Amino acid sequence: MSRLDKRLLMYDLIIIGAGTAGIAAYQQAVKSTQNLLIINDGPWDTTCARVGCMPSKVLISTANRMHDIQHADRVGLQVESKIDRSQVMQHVQKLRRTIKIRSNDLLATFDI
Ligand SMILES: Cc1cc2nc3c(=O)[nH]c(=O)nc-3n(C[C@H](O)[C@H](O)[C@H](O)COP(=O)(O)OP(=O)(O)OC[C@H]3O[C@@H](n4cnc5c(N)ncnc54)[C@H](O)[C@@H]3O)c2cc1C
Repeated sequence: MSRLDKRLLMYDLIIIGAGTAGIAAYQQAVKSTQNLLIINDGPWDTTCARVGCMPSKVLISTANRMHDIQHADRVGLQVESKIDRSQVMQHVQKLRRTIKIRSNDLLATFDI
């Protein structure tokens, strides 16, 4: 058995990846043991919050609102519409930062 194998056997649990699944696994596992290891290669963040569910849903919501505005004449409203892409992305980034602050709070409890 290699030295690495022996070191890994010291842990009650090893979690690979600190994304959505890894963080959920950590939150449950830490209730039973502090003797666990997280192996992560890449950003200490979930795909969901970084580039997945969250930013995509913000963009879809923005697009839906624009669609409503552009078709407001159907209900008798005359509304001018203009997209400011830069501000749309700033909004996405602002919400993403809020989520990142929350995950940073959790990361602070990791012994990295
Ligand atoms: C555009 C988009 C929109 C989405 N919308 C939704 C949605 O609306 N609803 C929904 O439920 N899901 C959505 N998803 C899917 C969702 O983001 C994923 O299902 C979820 O993030 C998967 O979680 P995970 O823990 O498996 O992986 P991730 O959150 O991706 O975490 C993987 C972790 O593993 C680490 N890692 C990678 N390679 C290694 C390695 N070799 N060794 C160690 N660590 C490694 C990474 O750094 C990362 O921290 C969307 C995804 C995308 C891309």
